[in-house]
Amino acid sequence: MASESDYRIVDVRTYPLVQRLPQPAKTSWGTYEAVSILLVEVETASGICGVGECLARFAPAGYAEVIKAAMPRLIGQDATAITARWKDMRRTLSGRSGGILIEAMSAVDIALWDILGKAANLPIWKLLGGVGKTDVPVYGASIRWGTDSEADSDLDLMRERGLSDMKVKIGRPVDEACRRIARLRERAGDDIRLSADSNWAYSLDEAKRVAAALTDNGYHWFEEPLRPEDEDGYRQLHRRCAVPLAAGESNYTLDQAMPLIRDRTLSVLQPNVTRSGGITETRRMAELAAMHDISYAPHVGMSGIICEVASLHLAAAMPNTLSMECAFAPNRFRDGIADIAPANSRIKDGTVAAPDGPGLGITMNWDLVKEMVA
Ligand SMILES: [Mg+2]
Repeated sequence: MASESDYRIVDVRTYPLVQRLPQPAKTSWGTYEAVSILLVEVETASGICGVGECLARFAPAGYAEVIKAAMPRLIGQDATAITARWKDMRRTLSGRSGGILIEAMSAVDIALWDILGKAANLPIWKLLGGVGKTDVPVYGASIRWGTDSEADSDLDLMRERGLSDMKVKIGRPVDEACRRIARLRERAGDDIRLSADSNWAYSLDEAKRVAAALTDNGYHWFEEPLRPEDEDGYRQLHRRCAVPLAAGESNYTLDQAMPLIRDRTLSVLQPNVTRSGGITETRRMAELAAMHDISYAPHVGMSGIICEVASLHLAAAMPNTLSMECAFAPNRFRDGIADIAPANSRIKDGTVAAPDGPGLGITMNWDLVKEMVA
């Protein structure tokens, strides 16, 4: 007979979700019309359940299959021994870590932290230590890489919401990006902090030209100028430009993030908790960055409410948090899918509070979740 303190895992349920975006996202990759994620619900013998999410841009049902394959390693095991469960899931692969497995593990890991918090009756930010405040600075994301009038209306909307920190999407051609960089600086004025994100758009030579424009216009960081595998390119760019470099949303694990942290090529590390192995591994990445005086700025992008809330817990507990990405576009994975409003409607003085309830501190609206199952 199961007792209240029996946290052995009895079931892992998966929910592959798809939505058409109410407002398509425009980046250097093109226009995203639809987006998907996977949610999981982990049930323990005590009756306590935890929820998690992973980034699953395409084929979310494939992620559900990966989790089913890892389930024999989870069922019957202690949900609160999170590091052991993380290692067990990691051993599903015999090769290098990364890709779909680590993304899928992220969902389960977040659910296990939710369970641990509920078992301890503490919010996750407190389990992680906390830094004495739960109001997390946020920046608005993103000013679209679309027409000038789309970019202007994005900037105006975020300014109306009281944000003075925001991110601009840029891409190719380079001349057009440089024009956009200067144009938005002029429109925003000097009191608004602007950063730029190119989502790997450039060659090294192109990135050097864009970096010069960003420096001239007082931009705060240059995000993902090059493809993530080109570590030497990042190093060369860092030596040749003054604007701080940011990256990390395309890294899966600490060992992939480590080289550019260790030599301080990056100034800002931006892991996505629903891709980078969950709270367990993202915490390791943020702490390694802190040891090297590198800031932590959680990536959220087109992810769902669990990603946003898990990021708030981490951001409220890491010593080197700079600001969390706060997406403004309407998104059914965030709007009304849980009993907490999306961060973009909870901004106070440029910050958003991490939830106070046990675990993640949210309850999912399962009817809405089930409506979106692919
Ligand atoms: Mg980005």
